[in-house]
Amino acid sequence: MIESSIKNKYHKLNCSFCNKKPKNSNKLVISKYSCICYVCINSFAKIIKTDLENIKKKTHEKHKYIPIKIKKKLDKYVVGQKTAKKVLSVAVYNHYKKKTYENKNYTNNTNIEKNNILLIGPTGSGKTLLAKTLANIIKVPFVIADATSLTEAGYVGEDVESIIYRLLQKCNFNIKEAESGIIYIDEIDKIAKKSENISITRDVSGEGVQQSLLKIIEGTDTFISPTGGRKHPEQELIKINTSKILFILGGTFIGLKKIISKRIDVKSNLGFHKIQNNKKQIEKNNLLRKVIAQDIIKFGFIPEFIGRISTIATLKSLEEKDLIKVLCETKNSLLEQYKMLFKMENIVLEFSKRSIEEIVKKSILIKTGSRGLKTILEKILLDLMYETPSKKNIKKIIVNKSFVKKKFLPK
Ligand code: ADP
Repeated sequence: MIESSIKNKYHKLNCSFCNKKPKNSNKLVISKYSCICYVCINSFAKIIKTDLENIKKKTHEKHKYIPIKIKKKLDKYVVGQKTAKKVLSVAVYNHYKKKTYENKNYTNNTNIEKNNILLIGPTGSGKTLLAKTLANIIKVPFVIADATSLTEAGYVGEDVESIIYRLLQKCNFNIKEAESGIIYIDEIDKIAKKSENISITRDVSGEGVQQSLLKIIEGTDTFISPTGGRKHPEQELIKINTSKILFILGGTFIGLKKIISKRIDVKSNLGFHKIQNNKKQIEKNNLLRKVIAQDIIKFGFIPEFIGRISTIATLKSLEEKDLIKVLCETKNSLLEQYKMLFKMENIVLEFSKRSIEEIVKKSILIKTGSRGLKTILEKILLDLMYETPSKKNIKKIIVNKSFVKKKFLPK
């Protein structure tokens, strides 16, 4: 009875969503309150599928750059520097987390201050590599600037705004993308004020440069000339807000260890520190890890500048075993790069274990950390790279210890 009454009604019904009558090819599914045709079901299924996929993607994105994953990726490219990698992973995660949640009402009107990072460590310990790899991992535009070429606006040289211009260039003038980029400023220790620091030989006062950098790193609206040069009054300028740009500052800070050790000694003399002969006990490498903001101010930085840096990470000089890993084990390692260059000539390039140890020993001798590795390899392989393209019968080259010894001329 009920079935026949439904059948009678069926052809009088319309789909509650598209209002169309049922056909053989587009039937209706009927409920007590409404009905829906097959075409509408199909379209809704597609909408639901895309929506679910987006939710999944967002959850995935959210977990993609969690600190542990960032560190794991850094491990593939950067040898050692465990603490620095950990500190950086957290700082970068927090920086970009703020950006993700800025439009949502999570923060309860709490204003989380901008965080910039300072990397302190010897030449060739991986400061630039860390910053560059981080930018690659989280896929944001990245530029490297050198603090020694910076000037206060008005002086000759690269001014602070031109760094922002280069960042814009990196992402095809996409302002939003540039505003989420990373700027690495190398040799930041060279803009320390002269009076407090023994090792500075700048003409232009470091304090002026610190002041002009300060504005940018603390987050401000900057107006950039679209041509990158000096601004003209009639020109329309590009506005960039720097508050979401992550600034990583790096330097060797020669002389800083002395300042730290002095501070610790004074404290110990005052009875704050009980260990006797502190200076002797603290290993040179570990001293840097005890750095506090006050030491950097003493080194020659203005307190406001240091106030804008909330993360300080220190890097150690690489030891022999680390340098061997730099040569052979990291992704895109130096040996891998040279092997590839020879492979392009259809030549297999191999290095004996002892040749690698010899290369590392030489680089330690010239005290340039990992930077020396490339110079040494270039010297060793120069003749081979010069001659092999004109020789046809070479299939394999094995570099051994004696070859390294003979070819390397330290002077
Ligand atoms: P820094 O900025 O500390 O002077 P870089 O990051 O410029 O040193 O290092 C120079 C090169 O040496 C890098 O491009 C990389 O090939 C290698 N290198 C330096 N440190 C490391 C490291 N910790 N792990 C792997 N490679 C490194």
